[in-house]
Amino acid sequence: MTYKQWYLEHGNKHAKIMEKLKDKTKDEVIAYFKFENMVKNEPDFCPLYKDNKKCHDYDELNCYFCACPNFRFDDDGVKKQEGKTLYSYCSIDSKDGAQFEGEDYIHQNCAGCLVPHKERYIKKNFNRNWFEAMKNVNLSK
Ligand code: SF4
Repeated sequence: MTYKQWYLEHGNKHAKIMEKLKDKTKDEVIAYFKFENMVKNEPDFCPLYKDNKKCHDYDELNCYFCACPNFRFDDDGVKKQEGKTLYSYCSIDSKDGAQFEGEDYIHQNCAGCLVPHKERYIKKNFNRNWFEAMKNVNLSK
């Protein structure tokens, strides 16, 4: 699956849930997206839910902003020096981010970063429209 396919599929799943929650307040919506509730009530939102597994080992994990508004991807990639192609990166260069590097590719690795999963961040950057919140993420043509 390409980044773009994932982005479109995930955004559409998010939109469906938001349609159900259209009468809920911002705080109620954010509470609904807590990992424990999502596993129970939205089993198709994330493939990890079926195993009750978290992407990050964090007690307060919230799934509202999965993936992350700071993520940038380009399925065509950008050629870098040393023959590698950069397919994704972090726009704020989070100190907890890292990179997967292979012989000819570089991908952003967010495994150690909790920025978009904290309620404080979600409240500050809240947008009911996931595609609008993520509008800068997709750099593919
Ligand atoms: S490293 Fe953190 S802030 Fe940067 S794109 Fe990944 S999750 Fe977002």
